[in-house]
Amino acid sequence: METKEKVRHRKTESGRRLTEFMAQSYLRLHERAAAGDFVVWIAIIVPAEIFAGFDGVVFAVPESHAAMSAAKGVGPLQCEKAEKLGYSMDLCSYARIDIGTHFDGEKDSPTFGLPKPHLLISNNNNCSLLVKWFDVFHRAWNVPHLVLDVPFAYHPQTENEVGYIVAQFQKIISTIKEMTGKRFDIEKVREAISYSREAYRWWKDFLLCATNRPSGITAFDSFVQMAPILTDRGRKQLVEHYRLLVEETKAMMQRGEFPVPSERYRLLWDNIAPWHQLKNMSARLAALHANIIAASYTYCIGTVEGEIDLFDGETEDPLRYLARMQNFSVCPMGKELRKRAMSKAVETFGIDGVIFASNRSCKVYSVMQMDLMSEISAMHGIPCTMIDVDHADIRKYSEEHAFLRIEALLEQIERVKRGKSA
Ligand code: SF4
Repeated sequence: METKEKVRHRKTESGRRLTEFMAQSYLRLHERAAAGDFVVWIAIIVPAEIFAGFDGVVFAVPESHAAMSAAKGVGPLQCEKAEKLGYSMDLCSYARIDIGTHFDGEKDSPTFGLPKPHLLISNNNNCSLLVKWFDVFHRAWNVPHLVLDVPFAYHPQTENEVGYIVAQFQKIISTIKEMTGKRFDIEKVREAISYSREAYRWWKDFLLCATNRPSGITAFDSFVQMAPILTDRGRKQLVEHYRLLVEETKAMMQRGEFPVPSERYRLLWDNIAPWHQLKNMSARLAALHANIIAASYTYCIGTVEGEIDLFDGETEDPLRYLARMQNFSVCPMGKELRKRAMSKAVETFGIDGVIFASNRSCKVYSVMQMDLMSEISAMHGIPCTMIDVDHADIRKYSEEHAFLRIEALLEQIERVKRGKSA
């Protein structure tokens, strides 16, 4: 089935701007920390917009740093450093990369590491490992560690849950006030949220470029382009970045430039991005006329609890909005909510088949995939497959094994397509 046609990896203006954006983002973080700003390390889901309410407070995201390290090819190197310190290879590779980096003096990091934190804030609705991971630094550096306790989402958040989460945000605010002596301005948080919301609207426009046939984007584009949302939520620059991304993507589509012009198989990806395979996997799929056009990892951004449309409620109270957004990512959702979101995605994007990536690191993302796979396949009459990956540790991935399954999936899809047209 594979053609000998060479597939070129696209170098776009947006890609170049992203590289510059991320370089500036980490440079700014290091500069502000060096100038004396108060540094908070946060788990991805912790509401970054809260810190905009203080002058002189910056945040860093260890998971984002780990993902970038994996994408730049230093994942296994940093993992091995943690393993030599006694951390098991079975632990999440993000944690191993991060621990390996910081206990080796930030060496080999693509971002020169992260500035040392004054405060750590994790949460437990993605996974409990994250709390333990942040606790490592809490013990090693004697830095205070707050843990956001967010109820797991089997259903849309209840009023009680919103109140419970908001009370914990108030604890974050009072802790930073006490530690820094700075005043807090909720109006600045409101402004930061308005930038995030606008950026999410552009983000959704970008993802919807995949509804075109052929798709205007690959899910790999969305994997790399999500980075600023993690590191720069609440900043005006974020809006401009995504506005330009949409404009450029649409202009390319109008010129007839598509990532997989010969697209025959439109696929959906379920799990974290395979950071070490972004170029390899997209190029090899393109040679097979296949495109992973959407991913649960990126279509959940800006949404809540089994939706793929943006969350547009809670416009009045900033802390309530941020509480609702605690349920945006896939890991804290029960199977029915995940299935609902995936079903909508299958219909919206015209998906022919789903690749469930069983992730050796992220058990919480992977644990219900087997059930999800059979239910989605039965509901939509589309073939699905499961491959083994680790999102950041290439030592736990076999390209040949993965593509054996993927090629079999494409053959199944081909049979379905022929059956429909017969
Ligand atoms: S196990 Fe999954 S949710 Fe937990 S830190 Fe790793 S990637 Fe994140």
